[in-house]
Amino acid sequence: MKQNFVLTWKGKNNIIQCLSRNSTRLKRISDAFAFARDGRVLEGTFAICDLKRLHDLLTELDGEVQYRLEGFNGERGECLLHLTVGGVLPLVCKRCLESVPFDLDVDNLLELVPEGADLSQDELEDDTRDFLPVVRELDVAELVEDEILLALPVAPRHEKCGLPGSAEAGERINPFAVLSELKGKPN
Ligand SMILES: [Zn+2]
Repeated sequence: MKQNFVLTWKGKNNIIQCLSRNSTRLKRISDAFAFARDGRVLEGTFAICDLKRLHDLLTELDGEVQYRLEGFNGERGECLLHLTVGGVLPLVCKRCLESVPFDLDVDNLLELVPEGADLSQDELEDDTRDFLPVVRELDVAELVEDEILLALPVAPRHEKCGLPGSAEAGERINPFAVLSELKGKPN
């Protein structure tokens, strides 16, 4: 219960921060296949404030991530995108709920496929690239957000939390040891 309260309170604070900030227009590529065929490059930054699906996982929404999206043709003429995303995200430590900085290092190769296309077994098993189904238009912010979510640890935590009572499991006081020690002491 306490945990839920803290996160809700942080969530509210984050909404206020975002409202008071001028959102920049988020990037869209009108034809992702043409972008790749023409070997175009798009790079820039996204304010963390604008990447809404990350908000519940973060302790604060200041800062930004840097991205670079490069289109090119593969050997079979396939349309490829090389996406890199970097930045530092203040994740919520699962143990003490304080901030634990995470170095983002996304470096992915994506093959564009028409939405609804059937992929062969060979293609599905190819782990050198991921497949990205698109109609035509590509929402770059959404893609960057997707790739960030996939790169995050499932349960972020400090190696050693700073709070009292949140020591590593190995250092935890054994209640039975304390009891037997008490028993041995005269009143
Ligand atoms: Zn912690």
